[in-house]
Amino acid sequence: MGKSSSRPDEVVLLSDLPPCDLELNNVPESLKEEASRQTAADICETHEEKLKLFCVDHQKPICVICRDSKDHKQHQCVPINEAATDSKNELRMALMNSKTKLSKLDEEKLTCDKMHTHIQKQAKQTEEHIKGEFKKLYRFLRAEEAARIDGLRKEAEKKSQDMQIRRASLIVQISSLSKTVKAAETDLEAADLSFMTNYEAIKNRAQCTLPDPETPSGALIDEAKHRGNLLFHVWKKMKSIIQYTPFCLDPNTAKSNMIVSEDLMSWTINNEKSDALGMLMSLAPLGLALGYIPGMYS
Ligand SMILES: [Zn+2]
Ligand SMILES: [Zn+2]
Repeated sequence: MGKSSSRPDEVVLLSDLPPCDLELNNVPESLKEEASRQTAADICETHEEKLKLFCVDHQKPICVICRDSKDHKQHQCVPINEAATDSKNELRMALMNSKTKLSKLDEEKLTCDKMHTHIQKQAKQTEEHIKGEFKKLYRFLRAEEAARIDGLRKEAEKKSQDMQIRRASLIVQISSLSKTVKAAETDLEAADLSFMTNYEAIKNRAQCTLPDPETPSGALIDEAKHRGNLLFHVWKKMKSIIQYTPFCLDPNTAKSNMIVSEDLMSWTINNEKSDALGMLMSLAPLGLALGYIPGMYS
C-alpha cells in the first residue's frame, strides 16, 4: 500500500507546476505592475513633483523642490536627461571595452581550439619521430649484433677446421709411430746374431724423429676479444655514428609559412631551403632550443 500511495504523490507534484499558458497570462499583469511602479518612481515621494534632476553628490534623482532643500542646497544637481546622457556615454565606453575584450576572448578561444588540434598533431608527429630515431638505433644494434655473431661463427668454423686438420695429422703420426713401435718389438725378439748383424738398420728404423706434440696457442676462440667490454665497445661505436648538435630549432616559434626539418636543423620557406647556419645569419625568426643536456633525462 505504501508503495502505491507514493505514485499519486508524484503525479500531484507534476500537476502542481504552473502550465505554460498560465505563465504567459501572467506576463501582462506583471508588466502592468512594473509600469505603475515606474510611474510612482517618477514622482518625488516627499514633494510629489516629477524627478527631473539628479544630485551628483547623492547619486540619486531629485525634484526641483529637493534641490532647494537643506539636504541638497550645497550639492551639484544636473537635469536628469543630462546625467543620463553622460552616464550612458560612460557605460557605452565601458561596453565598448567589454566588447573588444569579448572579441579578444573569442579569438583566444579559436586559438585555443587550433592549439588543441595542433597539440594532437604535435604528439603524433613527435611520437613518430621518436619511433623513427629508435628504429635507427635498433637497426644499428641488430647490424652490430649480426656482425659480431658472424665474426664469432667464422672464427669458430676456422678453428674447428684447424683442429680437424691437426687431428687428421695426429692420426697419421700415431699410425706411423705404432708401426715403428711394433717393428722394433718384433726386432727385439730376433736371435742375438741376427739382431746384431742388422742392428744399424734396426736402430735407424726405430728412431722417432717426430717432435713432442704441443697444443698450439690461439687454437681456442678468443672469448676475451668477443666478450670483453662488449657493451662499452658497441656504445662507443654507436656514439661515433650519432651526431650531437649543441642547438636545434624550436618549431613552436616557427612562423606558419615555415617548415622545420625532421631533425630540427633546417627550415624551408617558399621552396627555398636554408641550412641552420643560413638561418642563424638571417633575422633568426626561429627560436633556438638547447640540445640534449647530459643527465637531463637520466
Ligand atoms: Zn522632492
Ligand atoms: Zn544631494
